[in-house]
Amino acid sequence: MAGYNVTIGIEVHCHLSTQAKMFCRCGTDYIGKEPNSLTCPVCLGIPGSLPVLNRKVLELALKAALALDCDILPRVVFHRKNYFYPDLPKGYQISQYDFPIGVNGIIRYEVGGLIREIRIKRVHTEEDAGKLVHQGEGFRFAQSGVDYNRSGIPLVEIVTEPDLTSPEEARECLMMLRTIVRYLEVSDGNMEEGSLRCDANISLSNTPGEMGVKVEVKNMNSFRSVYRALQFEVERQSSILRSNRPVIQETRHWDEMKNVTVAARGKEEAEDYRYFPDPDLLPMNISDALLTEIRASLTEMPLHRKERFMNDYELTGNEAEILVTNKNLADFFEECLKDFRKPRLVCNWVLTEILRYLNEEGQEINQSKLTPRMLAELLRLLEKKEISGTIAKNVLEDMFLTGSGPREIIARKGISFISNEKELEKIVREMIEKNPQSVADYLSGKEKAFNFLVGAVMKATRGQASPELVKTVLARELQAGG
Ligand SMILES: [Zn+2]
Repeated sequence: MAGYNVTIGIEVHCHLSTQAKMFCRCGTDYIGKEPNSLTCPVCLGIPGSLPVLNRKVLELALKAALALDCDILPRVVFHRKNYFYPDLPKGYQISQYDFPIGVNGIIRYEVGGLIREIRIKRVHTEEDAGKLVHQGEGFRFAQSGVDYNRSGIPLVEIVTEPDLTSPEEARECLMMLRTIVRYLEVSDGNMEEGSLRCDANISLSNTPGEMGVKVEVKNMNSFRSVYRALQFEVERQSSILRSNRPVIQETRHWDEMKNVTVAARGKEEAEDYRYFPDPDLLPMNISDALLTEIRASLTEMPLHRKERFMNDYELTGNEAEILVTNKNLADFFEECLKDFRKPRLVCNWVLTEILRYLNEEGQEINQSKLTPRMLAELLRLLEKKEISGTIAKNVLEDMFLTGSGPREIIARKGISFISNEKELEKIVREMIEKNPQSVADYLSGKEKAFNFLVGAVMKATRGQASPELVKTVLARELQAGG
């Protein structure tokens, strides 16, 4: 690997979080739906059907472009990108060509504790294609079908300049990009479900600042596969160069099972798309009013938020990173601080107990019944030593399950506010001393005397002890005394 300069650029496609598709009213929530149940003449490309742009697509793409510091082009023009493929019923894809939404942007991200910048070449929108589904095994039995549910789902495509110099940087940059689109609520960025997809181009050269022959790698569907595919390419191309052979300019696919990249068949490289403006969609101007409105809706970017968490709340880089990478978790944390301003304690609970529970249940914090206010109240009880840490954890679990507040749960469960058994023992002994007659009655077999003593202890603790615990301790002390 040593000796070669590695140059990497990435291209990321994100499904935009719209309810309807890009040019029709069909729904976009296609995961788990019956194939071809979310289709209409427009997204099936039936002749005579006319596309109508979903305004939300433009707004979300503008939001992404603005957040990435792009220059916004004043005019939106859609082009037809012509190619033939079974998952593309129209024979062309509606995309943007020489007028993308934004150009010349920047992504700031962190790698090995250092902040890096990578330039963005362009941000544009396009519609997604359908999906081929293969069934059966062997050539004779295999069947292929096409599911057009995904056809026409709006995408934002973010293309970077080749500024990355290692597979690790590519992975970190992609992770930051996903965090950013999630922050903006522009896309759910879910790679497993295919709503965020990444292609990369990579070249190696002997001369610093000079690029070698570019190879494009496609079909990477996780951060891990992006990293491993690029690492594989670095090694493959290095060994070709070392033996003085030429690297071939080509498109390669990442084979997740075999851990190798393989050359794509020739036709997939033929990129003569014959772009021309779509005659069904009129060019549009982007108004200053719209830009001002979208600019105002931008949220704090993750890297900035991380620095603020470290400065304002004295969190470590690692703690801040975990919180900030998940916007909902970071929002929850800050919301909780409004009611209980102890960042260190709140952070500890969020990163240990709460994350553990969420991971076990496969939940997101905003899907759970736990509210920031409930956690604040629980931590206040804990801080005033009204409940022990063990009981607090127990109550927390109950809050997740029932959505009740901590005091309500404590009352319902009869959980002791006096959780310290030693303290309870002292009170029990006092009551035994104060009621010798009842003790004698109990020891001579009168059950009612026991209940009387339980009542006396409960009264002495002003109802703040668990009746179960009182019974246990009382029985034990009576045995010991008798
Ligand atoms: Zn449709």
